[in-house]
Amino acid sequence: MSTAVFPAESPTTAAPAAAATRGHVEITNVRKSFGGTEVLKGVSLTVPPGGVAVIVGPSGSGKSTLLRTINHLEKVDGGYITIDGQLVGYQVRGNKLHELREKDILKQRTDIGMVFQNFNLFPHLTALENVTEAPVVALHRNKAEARKRGLELLDRVGLKGRADAYPRQLSGGQQQRVAIARALALDPKILLFDEPTSALDPELVNEVLDVIRELATSGTTLIIVTHEMGFARDVADTVVFMDQGQIVEQGSPQEIFANPREPRTRSFFSKVI
Ligand code: ADP
Ligand code: MG
Repeated sequence: MSTAVFPAESPTTAAPAAAATRGHVEITNVRKSFGGTEVLKGVSLTVPPGGVAVIVGPSGSGKSTLLRTINHLEKVDGGYITIDGQLVGYQVRGNKLHELREKDILKQRTDIGMVFQNFNLFPHLTALENVTEAPVVALHRNKAEARKRGLELLDRVGLKGRADAYPRQLSGGQQQRVAIARALALDPKILLFDEPTSALDPELVNEVLDVIRELATSGTTLIIVTHEMGFARDVADTVVFMDQGQIVEQGSPQEIFANPREPRTRSFFSKVI
């Protein structure tokens, strides 16, 4: 990657985005292999500021890997990703890409919230401490202010009064809502969700989807991997169907669900809907 010649119209030279245009994600021809197997075969996707992209597709098609490249948890082998014109994980020096230092990668990641299937809360911290940990430790925010904001966020996800509960004292749906509040605490430009309801008992799915529905109208850019097709239809500006490391088809929910063009998309939906 360090030898790749970067195009002359480097996105890092773009003017800084105004506040109203936060969270413009540009994924360009991203490739990724694991041990000789290419699992992302040149994926390109644009999500405008405040846009909601829902990624669907069979298991193993590369959805999680794609999400993980967006916050540089996986390094790309080819192509590049920018957020508001800033390259993710790299900088351009002398017409070549060089990976950022760990410190700068961590700083960049504070703009990118991620919510995982299995919540990944710190078990020894309360709900509120889970939410305030990153702002205080990573961003050195004032503790009292972080606490105030943390309580507001717990309220926003419907967990007023549960601030002092430990993860083991909360249902899966409540834990996932804490995880969403935690992701919001850094005021991210974009939020990535990787099957946020797949680990939940069916009766707990909706309380989490309702929180994400609210976020979808709030102006934060969302990229969501899910198998919840009804939810995808409701919230998505664009639905992306991935199979075997490629985007097979992309369009509005109406186009993709009601009128898919590609046989592979039709075949997938005939099994899941
Ligand atoms: P999805 O999220 O769509 O189910 P993934 O992105 O998790 O798909 O995986 C795509 C492919 O990449 C799968 O074949 C998976 O086994 C492989 N893969 C993912 N992560 C790794 C890894 N860290 N090492 C080796 N193979 C991996
Ligand atoms: Mg996955």
